[in-house]
Amino acid sequence: MSDLSLADFFRARLRIRGRVLRTPLVESPVLSALAGTPVYLKLETVQPTGSFKLRGATNALARLAEAGCRRVVTASTGNHGRAVAHAARALGIEAAVCMSSLVPPNKIEAVRALGAQVHIAGKSQDDAQREAQRLVRDEGYAYVPPFDHPDVIAGQATIGLEIVEDLPDVEHVVVPLSGGGLFAGVALAVKRSAPAARLTGVTMERGAAMHASLAAGKPVLVDEVETLADSLGGGIGLDNGYTFSLTRELIDSVVLLDEASIARGIVHAYESERLVLEGAAAVGIAALLAGHLGDASAARGPIVLIVTGANIDMNQHRRIVGAAGEAKPETIPEAELETKREGANA
Ligand SMILES: *Cc1c(COP(=O)(O)O)cnc(C)c1O
Repeated sequence: MSDLSLADFFRARLRIRGRVLRTPLVESPVLSALAGTPVYLKLETVQPTGSFKLRGATNALARLAEAGCRRVVTASTGNHGRAVAHAARALGIEAAVCMSSLVPPNKIEAVRALGAQVHIAGKSQDDAQREAQRLVRDEGYAYVPPFDHPDVIAGQATIGLEIVEDLPDVEHVVVPLSGGGLFAGVALAVKRSAPAARLTGVTMERGAAMHASLAAGKPVLVDEVETLADSLGGGIGLDNGYTFSLTRELIDSVVLLDEASIARGIVHAYESERLVLEGAAAVGIAALLAGHLGDASAARGPIVLIVTGANIDMNQHRRIVGAAGEAKPETIPEAELETKREGANA
């Protein structure tokens, strides 16, 4: 399948232990009833930076530190940037995060608060990326990619090890899909320990670079479109070295979601699971609610939905949940309201 072996994943687990949480796998009674088979949520939302990205970043940085590297750089302002900043501080090395001047001040402050230096360069993500490359070339920084690197993949794979340990008869693992570091790692770890398990990738309908690349048979560029699943945006790199071929080899099915479905996933997570999720993390729940994970009679065993992160803007979260709340009275059929009233009187 690739040079990455289970041994690499167990070594990654030892390396990140104490810096990254072993996260809970909890059954959702509501989703289990809907699916007709047990549904479990793997809660990466409880990681110190609010997403699983800390696993891959910590493994990659720990390896760099072992090799004597003292300074790392990235251009991500999202979950990967946060994870790199956090991991660098924990390991006692320097981190720089390159950003364009258009990045909002609250994001800049969030990265500074984690102890990283912020380099402002140009007016686009490409400009920020070029500044990161300059720091690598001229100042001896090591670049830490967000997904397309064996150490990052091995870090994310530790999620797969934990799932199989906690649920050896897992039948179906549902993974939010963007650059494919998470998918490749989890799929390698799960399929090597539980070869019969199915692996589904879930992403948004528009602007999904991995899906477009799988369809084209090679990495392609897509236009970035605004989406509630913002952590799933961005390209996979035309020079993709690992995650494209691994995803192509290991993926059993891809589910594409529209924005309304993703919003329903966020609302369901909040109201029925008591979880605040960012859009990218709610896509597994959304896919199940929309009936995209196969019908109940076909399900042979437990489904695991990887719930990848909690980093949603809380004003946006309030708007989504609020809008769903206001929409509700009209959507409840009159007969149901009658029984509710009766119930209240009883
Ligand atoms: C990065 C990210 C993903 C996707 O991970 P890839 O390795 O890029 O496929 C999913 N969910 C969240 C919350 C993320 O931050």
